[in-house]
Amino acid sequence: KKIIFSGIQPTGIPHLGNYLGALKQWKHLQDTSDKADSLIYCIVDLHAITIPRHCKLLAQSKREMLAALLAIGLDPQRSTIFHQSAVPAHSELQWILSCTASTGYLSRMTQWKSKLQSQSLSLSPSETTTSNPALRHGLFSYPILQAADILTYRATHVPVGEDQSQHLEFARECVTNFNHTFGSNIFYPPKTILSPAKRVMSLLDPTRKMSKSDPNPKSTILVTDDQQTIKKKIRGAVTDSGNFVTYDPERRKGVANLLEILSHLREDGATPAQIAEEMKGEGLVVLKKAVIEAVDAELAPIREKYAELLANESYLKQVQRLGKEKALKKAASTMRMVRTAVGLDD
Ligand code: ATP
Ligand code: MG
Repeated sequence: KKIIFSGIQPTGIPHLGNYLGALKQWKHLQDTSDKADSLIYCIVDLHAITIPRHCKLLAQSKREMLAALLAIGLDPQRSTIFHQSAVPAHSELQWILSCTASTGYLSRMTQWKSKLQSQSLSLSPSETTTSNPALRHGLFSYPILQAADILTYRATHVPVGEDQSQHLEFARECVTNFNHTFGSNIFYPPKTILSPAKRVMSLLDPTRKMSKSDPNPKSTILVTDDQQTIKKKIRGAVTDSGNFVTYDPERRKGVANLLEILSHLREDGATPAQIAEEMKGEGLVVLKKAVIEAVDAELAPIREKYAELLANESYLKQVQRLGKEKALKKAASTMRMVRTAVGLDD
């Protein structure tokens, strides 16, 4: 029996990278999994506050994310869909895991190192990284909370994009540390599930992944973008000076990204190289046109459903309550075992 868990931050509307790399897989798992398997999908609001944002904006983003998850076809009856902060066990387990987690391991995380680097670039020469008030502990210990999210449900499988592989490796380390320290065997190392679209790149800089937190809206396609916006953004996608179609992911990253997006949306499963072959002799306009059509066809039903759902406040509230109830119950059963293993029973 599988327990599938994954999360997404309410830091904006999901983009094509989130959709192809994670959410589409969540839906696929929902549609194909055994009835006995559990599916737990979490809107991780506690992770979202590692970068400060206004309370009204966070509340709005949480609502929008819930509507987006339902719009892509997640079913609140079949799947448990809820907000992380509604289940205090995540934070409690994070503390317990942090007592056996290695700071050395955490400081080697790529995501932390890149934050460190980008923050120190903006420092004046007289400042040091250690005195930089922008480097918060929450950003550093983020992977422990992520491990707690997964282990609160004793998940067996975690579908994520490639950028999360290292954090999942760390979650497995947390399992080893916990079991070793407390002489327990209640946790099992969760497996990573990577979808074929494990890394969709930014439309403006094909060396960086597409991200919700990218300040330039032209770098991402949101699952709610209308046809005109999709057209504009894909037409503006950065490629290179060669006006021909070849699949060369090393030297032509921008073109390769477009071919990969198209390949993930093609029902016949054509590979990026095969699509490039089909378009031999054509210019990039033809490729971009095909990408626009495929993306728009995939997203049109999602954006329609999204608009409907967002307007239905009472339904969203109802889904939120149902998810919270189901998640609290599952979490309580793990936490009973955890407290006994650690010696925290009343
Ligand atoms: P943020 O910039 O706020 O971190 P994000 O775009 O990285 O936003 P997350 O909420 O951190 O989105 O991640 C949600 C899921 O989407 C994760 O499983 C992550 O691996 C996946 N994901 C994020 N970006 C991409 C991408 N460009 N390609 C494929 N998968 C992605
Ligand atoms: Mg992210």
